[in-house]
Amino acid sequence: MTPVPPPARKHLGQNFLVDPNIVRKIVEAAALTSEETVLEIGPGRGVLTRALCAVTRRVQAVEIDPRLCAYLREALADCPNLELYEGDALHWPLDQLPQESAVVANLPYYLSTPLLLRLLDARPRLSRAVVMLQAEVAHRLVARPGTKDYGSLSVAVQRASEPRVLFRVSPNSFRPRPEVDSAVVSLTMCRSTLSVEVERVCQRLVRSAFAHRRKRVVNSLRDEGWSAEEIDLVRQALAPRPDRRAEEVSPAEFADIANRVAAWTGATGSDQ
Ligand code: SAM
Repeated sequence: MTPVPPPARKHLGQNFLVDPNIVRKIVEAAALTSEETVLEIGPGRGVLTRALCAVTRRVQAVEIDPRLCAYLREALADCPNLELYEGDALHWPLDQLPQESAVVANLPYYLSTPLLLRLLDARPRLSRAVVMLQAEVAHRLVARPGTKDYGSLSVAVQRASEPRVLFRVSPNSFRPRPEVDSAVVSLTMCRSTLSVEVERVCQRLVRSAFAHRRKRVVNSLRDEGWSAEEIDLVRQALAPRPDRRAEEVSPAEFADIANRVAAWTGATGSDQ
């Protein structure tokens, strides 16, 4: 007997893809080889999972909803290359993925930002990610400095990867229909050129700089407890326009400032 899928749970972001054309376009965009391992976050009712299992060697799928896991074990019993795990993708040990794994997912939208940040942190293991997101978040990922969508997420994503918005997806492609438009994005991961220490400073810098979006970077850092010496370094790095707001500073400039601050803290032994 064909198993019956459980009803959708809104609080888990369960908007299931029902348009085979979109499933095909996502799989094509991922350009998987038969040798790759793919991680799918939130397989849901398994439409994308089945298509991934058809084109690659090994699919690992992490689903938080035990009802869906029980359903998938039956419905996808004919996919021997599927490894299904019941659990929270936010706590999934991404560092245990094989090198050069890919991520393909229609993400649960209520968790898309923390999940994206986790994927960026795991980039030594990942070659790329092709993910469906709210269209509004997708625009933030690729936003350029000086635009209204540019923020700390844009900086984090553009420092760690090359993001591209591939195509938009209408709410009609899902059941139940979500209230927002969606978009599929690819992130080609970059190797980090910063040391762990500079990376840490950069993350603190970006967080503090955007904490008070309407203020100038130097004032925002002061409000966030940065020392006068550090702020002076930041002011010099922002020359010849030291009075800029965070939204006017590019990802490369944030990395440059972090390098200078980390070199100074390393040389003086001072740290926050
Ligand atoms: N991949 C399916 C599709 O395209 O139809 C389902 C996508 S649906 C937008 C998101 C899926 O993520 C749901 O199955 C939901 O239960 C699952 N999910 C939600 N939070 C999760 C979490 N923290 N960890 C793993 N899966 C999660």
